[in-house]
Order: sequence, then C-alpha cells, then structure tokens
Amino acid sequence: MNDSPNDRLVLPGELLGTAEEFVPGRGTYEDGGRIYAALLGHARVDPKDRAVRVEALNAVPEIKEGDLVFARVDEVKSAMAVCTIIAVGSSKRTVPGAPEGTVHISKAKDGYTDTLADEFQPGDVIQARVLQTGSSIKLSTATLELGVVSARCQVCHAILTTTGKELTCPRCGHRERRKLAGVEGSGGPTSSGPPPDRDRRRERDHGGRHRR
Ligand SMILES: [Zn+2]
Repeated sequence: MNDSPNDRLVLPGELLGTAEEFVPGRGTYEDGGRIYAALLGHARVDPKDRAVRVEALNAVPEIKEGDLVFARVDEVKSAMAVCTIIAVGSSKRTVPGAPEGTVHISKAKDGYTDTLADEFQPGDVIQARVLQTGSSIKLSTATLELGVVSARCQVCHAILTTTGKELTCPRCGHRERRKLAGVEGSGGPTSSGPPPDRDRRRERDHGGRHRR
C-alpha cells in the first residue's frame, strides 16, 4: 500500500501518518505524534505545506448554477424575496450554514409581477432554480413547476391548503394567493408589462397590507 494517504478513502480513527511527516489539517486530529482521520472521507495532502486533510464524503453540497433548491422565505421586500436555502436537489440534501438566496421580482414568475407579496410570504417554502451563485445566490421561480410548495397563513401561521389557484387556511379561513409550484395562473395577476395606469393597481389591491 502506498504510504502517502493522498486521495485514499479513510475511516474515522484511521492512521494517516506521523506529525513529522504531515501537519494535521481539517478533518484530522493528532494524538501522541500521530495524525488520524476524524471523519469518513478522502485524505488529501497539500504538497506545499504537507498539511493532511480529510474531506468529508458526505460533504456540504455545493450550490451550483442550474441547481434546484428548496428555500424558506424570510422576508418579502418590494423588489425581492429574501430566503434561506434549506435543501438542494431532488434528494433534498440539507444545506448547513443557512446560505441566503434572493428571488428578484422579475424572476418570481413568467410575466410581469406587480406585487411580490401576491407571490410569496414569509414562512413559505419555495422550490427554485439557482440562476447565479457568489456572495448572494440568485434564485428564480419563473417557470410553471417552480414556486411555493408550502405556504403559511399570514393571520394564524397554519399551513394553507390549496383550492385550485387559491389558498385557504384550514384553521381561520383566511384566503391568500401565491405563485404555487405547478399551478398555472396562480399568484397575483400577470401581465406582459407594467400596468398602464394606477387605477388597475387600486382595483386589485386587497386590503393594502403590503403596500408601502
Ligand atoms: Zn389562518
């Protein structure tokens, strides 16, 4: 067996080498001059500093452009919804570290969105596509299959039940709108451009709860 632990799959507690050979790095520990793997993963030696690291096999899934994610909506602003990404992929691998993602109003649905609060509300869980990664993760729900998968009543916080395109609270009867995943024409009214005049806005303002 090669005595270098490089790229070898190692078990927790497995000897990687001595403290004379290597510097203990992430995912390792030193005991009595020997370095051991602290977790299951691949051992890697950095040739520059001789640091040995173990990269966990079930590592934090990296979020990439094009990935499908599940995210919880934390805040709905006038131009964007701020979310916490909680899982990635269809296998719903959880994402530690609570990375932030945002859905811009132009990416909420196909067509023009007038009021983002007609599409999402805090506490909702959405399924979204990653448009861009980096310091902030930009998300889109602008296709039919994407959008809200679980919505909370804004009055009593119960999980809303879907009735066609509308959502109804089974506890208090409150009715709400969302851009629902897989439900065509759900959410707020869609048009191909900004409303031509302010009268249209007033017509469909329901209560003015989210107006600035
Ligand atoms: Zn309710």
